[in-house]
Amino acid sequence: MDPDPVEMANEVQHKNILHWNYRGLAELPEVIRLHGAHLQEIYLKWNKLTTLPPWIAELFNVTNLYLYGNQIEQLPAQFGEMSQLMVLDLSANNLQLIPACLGSLSNLKFLFLNNNSIKRLPVELGQLNNLEMLCLSGNQIVALPEWVGSLPKLKELYADKNQLRELPNRLTLAPELVVISVCSNRLTYLPLNGFLSNPCIRFDGNEYLNYMSYPLLQQLLEMRLSPDTYDRDFVLASGCFKTHYDTNVLSTNIKLYIKTKDLPMNHDTIIELPRQLLKVHEVRENVTCSLWELALRKVYAERYKHTLDILKNNCVTVLYEPLLKNTKLDLTLSANYTLYNLLTNGPTSICVNSQCQQPIFTEAWIIIDVYDPTIWCTITIALCCSRSCAIEFAHSSATNTRDWYRIN
Ligand SMILES: [Zn+2]
Repeated sequence: MDPDPVEMANEVQHKNILHWNYRGLAELPEVIRLHGAHLQEIYLKWNKLTTLPPWIAELFNVTNLYLYGNQIEQLPAQFGEMSQLMVLDLSANNLQLIPACLGSLSNLKFLFLNNNSIKRLPVELGQLNNLEMLCLSGNQIVALPEWVGSLPKLKELYADKNQLRELPNRLTLAPELVVISVCSNRLTYLPLNGFLSNPCIRFDGNEYLNYMSYPLLQQLLEMRLSPDTYDRDFVLASGCFKTHYDTNVLSTNIKLYIKTKDLPMNHDTIIELPRQLLKVHEVRENVTCSLWELALRKVYAERYKHTLDILKNNCVTVLYEPLLKNTKLDLTLSANYTLYNLLTNGPTSICVNSQCQQPIFTEAWIIIDVYDPTIWCTITIALCCSRSCAIEFAHSSATNTRDWYRIN
């Protein structure tokens, strides 16, 4: 039986929150346009909508819009005019492309895009300066853009069950992040630097993830042991660290072959380094850095105070503070795209020798160890800015350095 238009109009007129879930609606009823200018929240979950009408932008008071479980393939450009929206749920639809107009929703705090067919995110979403929660699980995203790490208010990022191979380095600099959830992806490494906001990172079920950086491991252990979050059943990273290596993927990243023969690991393993790293050295290698690397370190240190302290009791503190406030990188720098990106995305790591605190971008001395093999057998790597820092770090932390060599 068709719904009675008079009854529908009556309902719209007398409610601020409209619950029209499970109504079988194939399009948004015109009655909402005629009588719904006052509506604040609209629930349209589990209908059959394939798009929204351009007049949706006339609903000036709607702050919460729930469209979970429809068949939406695209949105009208006018959707971007709903700048009062704070909550937008587009999960479980048929979206392949996220329209650029979503970047105009300047008050948006919660954006749900789970379970669509999204492969990439438009750069315009980087303008969502009030976004606190971004949910992208169950899509086909291969890479999260670096700008995700620059969303100033982002607290929670969910991107489980995608095709991610790496995380943006800039996430380490995100000021407010509390949760990053990236389970069941194809990650081969996590960012090597410590995270500024010390977030909880969930990354179970990344079978090609076979090592972690020393600072990040300490940070995760610290969180696990702290009285606030202590959880007896908490297992860090189940389904990871199997020493698998994804041989099907071509990548230009540096790969290291590591001998683990006297450890409770089945076989030697190969680890893949983050793409920012272009050159790596062993402790015994007495060479000097390239001028390019030295220039990056100097330019960065002039603009940012960025330190990483790893204390003996699993305590990691990261400080990151722009020294030149309210000034963007100047034009001569921004003309050099690579340099600009490297500086904006942040260093690959800060030198782990806490007396040093130099940023490291493309070139490092690498110490490889295995975190307590009797408890949790995991390869860890620590980056140092120079041979002398590497020697000092290896002595001070009583590491049992592993042999490795480059294989590509
Ligand atoms: Zn150093």
